[in-house]
Amino acid sequence: MSVFPLKFKPFGDGTLLFADDAGGFFKADVAFLERYAGNGLNPNDEQFLEDNGHSFREIDDLAYTGFAYRWANRLYAPTNLDYVILVPTLRCNLVCGYCQVSRVNENAPGFDWDEGTLNAVLQFLDGLTTRALKVEFQGGEPLLKLEMLERVRDFCRQRFDHTEFVVCTNLQAVSDKAWSFLSAPDTFTSTSLDANAETHERQRTITAEKTQEFLSNLRQAVDRFGTTKVSALPTLDVRNLPEPTSVIETFTSFGLRSIYLRPVNYQGFARKRFAAKDSAADWNAYHSAFIDALIEYNWSANEPVEEYYFVHCLRRVLRAGHNGHADLRNPNILGHGYLVIDYDGTFYPTDEARMVTRVGQFDLSMGNVQTGLDRTALDILNAEASNNFHPDCVHCPYQAFCGVDLVDDLSRYGRIDLPKHLTDFCQRHTHIFDKVFELIYSADPKVQKSLAIWAGMPEYEAALARVHQ
Ligand code: SF4
Repeated sequence: MSVFPLKFKPFGDGTLLFADDAGGFFKADVAFLERYAGNGLNPNDEQFLEDNGHSFREIDDLAYTGFAYRWANRLYAPTNLDYVILVPTLRCNLVCGYCQVSRVNENAPGFDWDEGTLNAVLQFLDGLTTRALKVEFQGGEPLLKLEMLERVRDFCRQRFDHTEFVVCTNLQAVSDKAWSFLSAPDTFTSTSLDANAETHERQRTITAEKTQEFLSNLRQAVDRFGTTKVSALPTLDVRNLPEPTSVIETFTSFGLRSIYLRPVNYQGFARKRFAAKDSAADWNAYHSAFIDALIEYNWSANEPVEEYYFVHCLRRVLRAGHNGHADLRNPNILGHGYLVIDYDGTFYPTDEARMVTRVGQFDLSMGNVQTGLDRTALDILNAEASNNFHPDCVHCPYQAFCGVDLVDDLSRYGRIDLPKHLTDFCQRHTHIFDKVFELIYSADPKVQKSLAIWAGMPEYEAALARVHQ
């Protein structure tokens, strides 16, 4: 019998967590590790490993093929380009201290798409082979260029079989025409709600009047369109974190039940203002406390609440195929499945790459909509876009669930070859997966209730938490 390679790490209760390259996992004691490493597995070990798909007898037997299938399913293969982020203007009517996208003042000239850029964008979209397209409008504040949004949407609706539009707006000043635009069934609103009114005012709106304008617009959006069409994200300053309960209270008061906690991103303008480069430990402690607060809340709540990214990671542990988040994929090939078109027509592989380029750190652009796509520089970077052969990740039990974020590494460290455990990406994901496994192996009924809800199961299933005795 041959055992597929097992990676392991201490679990904190004297046992160890083991995982294979296809994401199969279990807990066992140090004695098992010694037998495994010393080539001295006993019949009980062999039976357990065979029963749970961690071993095979011959190359190409059913166990081998099954493992290869599970391993391959863990990988992300970009398909057609079917998702574009469009930035028709950099102008904005707010001046948020941590703005990542190098916005410019509302009245600044020269930072909008002109007629030529719009036509080139439409021509580019016309050339896509996909039949379904998702378009995200970003800025600046995209509602300042509403007529461009209307023309893109009209074009896409007649060109593609299925379309979806997301407007990332600060919901600060919404005209009647903008409300009407947002009310369409294929159009979704994404906004920012920084924890609670007090934090939002400090970080974004500055005056009580502007805060009230925003809160009333958010209320109106939720009331008119429903929470399936409106999402809000909090961006938090690691140096001044709000009480988790106050964030949960604020979001649930709007009926919003998915909270995507994000620390101020160490990119773009935020990079200059917030020098908290190594804040992973503080953020991780807060994130952990937030998950605990959600578990407590969900125990007695009629409508449960989730932290979006934690649930995404949990689902990646439990099942293959959860590749919907562009920051957590393996391989994470840049510039293929989706791209960004900036206010001047420049292509970027991601919004973060746009920010890194705009502040002059690295040029991660990939051509211009007027002259065509150029992936030369990116393809060099893409050679490193997988964690499968990374000398640190190959020893990590979380490898099959984890991913790669080269742009984040470049932005923070100016290089992509730091030992993984020194990177913010690795520190944050190690923490999240530690927490995921803490919950999976918890006997606390409160934890099990939230875990089942977040995993999408009718009830907690003990078989998830395999232990080899
Ligand atoms: S980045 Fe860190 S957590 Fe992710 S697989 Fe690599 S070593 Fe593990």
